[in-house]
Amino acid sequence: MIPIKRLPLPDVLARNEERWRSTFLEQRAKDAQKRPSSRQYAHPDIVSTLETMSHHKCFYCEQSTKQTRREVDHYIEVAEDPTRAFTWTNLYLSCWECNHEKQPHRAVPVTDCLDPCAPDARPSAHLMFDDELIRAREGSAQGLATIKKYKLDRLDLDHKRLKQLQLFNKALGRIKDAMIADGRKQMNENEKALLRSFRDPDFPFSLMFSVVLEQHRL
Ligand SMILES: [Zn+2]
Repeated sequence: MIPIKRLPLPDVLARNEERWRSTFLEQRAKDAQKRPSSRQYAHPDIVSTLETMSHHKCFYCEQSTKQTRREVDHYIEVAEDPTRAFTWTNLYLSCWECNHEKQPHRAVPVTDCLDPCAPDARPSAHLMFDDELIRAREGSAQGLATIKKYKLDRLDLDHKRLKQLQLFNKALGRIKDAMIADGRKQMNENEKALLRSFRDPDFPFSLMFSVVLEQHRL
């Protein structure tokens, strides 16, 4: 998870939000199980704006949404507050796995968790990594709740993070070989920039790489 800056709401939502909400709430008054239409809240224009905001990654786990199914997630669940089913600030982009592993509000309240869209969001103060394994930084309660809420310690994520770490370690190995061949003790600026690019927001799991690069003093 990294901080996400919200873009202005897409036109399709500005034009339709009120109508979509009132129609949905009328239907829900008759049928308490009624769900909002994903053709509306996950309209392609809404998805593409969320994708731009998140650098094409899941808001929660930072895996690339180009390699997995992505969904529009209601940050405050529809069951908790149906009036926010079409509210722009309540729509988050999630991978299929985070959305389906998500613990309900009654089990882990969202208010106990880190919100990547909060103006003062600092996930790096609450989450850290031992290699590919995610941890709460210094036992942060918010970090722990966030890991539990979206199951960020699940096996499929460990595998994907490990694969990215292997790419980093390969690059680091090649740089070390070049340093030995050249008889250098220091990395050059290009080599440092290459390694630092792993924590670029466009890169999957960039929060993990900010921890890794910190360990390498880069
Ligand atoms: Zn995810």
